[in-house]
Amino acid sequence: AVAAAAAPEGLSTCALQQLDSAHYLHPFTDHAALRERGARVIVRGDGVYLWDSEGNKIIDGMAGLWCVNAGYGRTSIADAVHAQMSTLPFYNSFFNTTNVPAVQLAALLAAVSPPQFQHVFYTSSGSEANDTIVRMVRRYWQLAGRPEREVIISRRNAYHGSTMAGASLGGMAGMHAQGSLPIPGIVHIGQPHYAEGGRGMSEAEFGLEAAGWLEAKILEVGPDKVAAFIGEPVQGAGGVIIPPSTYWPEIQRICDKYDILLVSDEVICGFGRLGTWFGCELMGFRPDLIAFAKGVTSGYVPLGGVLVGGRVAHTLIDKGGDFNHGFTYSGHPSACAAALENIRILQTELLVERVALETGPHLKACFAALVAHPLVGHAETCGLAGGLNLVRRKGASVHDCEAFASTHAVGMLCRKHMFDNGVIMRAVGDRMIVAPPLSMTVAQIDEMVERIGYCLDLTLAEVQARGWM
Ligand code: PMP
Repeated sequence: AVAAAAAPEGLSTCALQQLDSAHYLHPFTDHAALRERGARVIVRGDGVYLWDSEGNKIIDGMAGLWCVNAGYGRTSIADAVHAQMSTLPFYNSFFNTTNVPAVQLAALLAAVSPPQFQHVFYTSSGSEANDTIVRMVRRYWQLAGRPEREVIISRRNAYHGSTMAGASLGGMAGMHAQGSLPIPGIVHIGQPHYAEGGRGMSEAEFGLEAAGWLEAKILEVGPDKVAAFIGEPVQGAGGVIIPPSTYWPEIQRICDKYDILLVSDEVICGFGRLGTWFGCELMGFRPDLIAFAKGVTSGYVPLGGVLVGGRVAHTLIDKGGDFNHGFTYSGHPSACAAALENIRILQTELLVERVALETGPHLKACFAALVAHPLVGHAETCGLAGGLNLVRRKGASVHDCEAFASTHAVGMLCRKHMFDNGVIMRAVGDRMIVAPPLSMTVAQIDEMVERIGYCLDLTLAEVQARGWM
């Protein structure tokens, strides 16, 4: 093991896989199953492509884990981090101290975010950002003289992270089942998922109906006990669930009516994913707090945080005294240096505008065309995020498609064909999702979609051979 650790680049794929299963516990993984299969070893990235240890070139339809917005191989980010590490790799922001990149980035974030945001609290991840939000909204209401306002309302099938508070805010039953979650004071309503719940309604009607669940929950809990509502503008890990356009404005109206803080989890949607800098701008609402991570550095170095709107910031600053919360790595100078260069790239290459005007519409057209495939019941995109549903039988509307038996795990089968044929998509049940780097060109989208089509053919052949369709 010592020799191996000294020269990992000299190891064969097989040796790496053995060491991996002997020592490395992966996130969200069935380790016994992984040991049978052997982990795929990714060794290099450039642009929208990855290479594995066997030399296979793969088009990355998931931007790593929704984060490599600027694409791989950005040596200018590496150079910026190297320069910062050579000058001052780390210093903390406790004890009346600050550092140059953290200050510069705070000002830049204030400039690129909606106007109510002039302050930032740094973390190292999206989960920590959401934990910070739970503490911050409760502290806010204490300072506002309403300490009984503690309950935070979230949604089923939301993903807000994997820490105790993050997983509690999230609405994933499988996560709640492990570890006695949610923690007290967090309750959930249904998600604005038209295909799931909108039968017999137009999308616009369903959007209002789903937002109405928030009002019903506020009245059930008691308006004087509710602190905040949190949601992702477009649910990512839940399956790229795009709400009807009527949903978020109605959520805003309800939060205003009951004076409840509105929180936008932009860990995926932030930094251009939907063709706007932040998803709330596209969806038409004005959050009090924004959680961000991932795209702020394109994942090159871990960084996250909370954008704090004027209402909360001024209360914390003017009335708050100490806020007893923070992390060793809050405002990490090397991470902030990565973010500064990453945001410079997004700005100078107009990547966000390209998603809005060019690549987003092109992905939409390509996904619409994929609905002609016998396996695809319906497909939706928003900016550079999209999902397509694999169905047993197509229907006249999203509500009339017949699903496969969940035990057949057709999505996982399809994902395997994708992996084996050089394209990465993620499966959420039988919904196949993409969120590629924002640097992906129109020609590369065509290349990705062509491979997706080929893998859908392979999946169809296998499904038919098994008599499932
Ligand atoms: N919020 C959302 C919307 C996310 O998608 C994620 C991660 N996928 C998180 C929070 C948690 O972020 P992290 O994994 O960096 O803790």
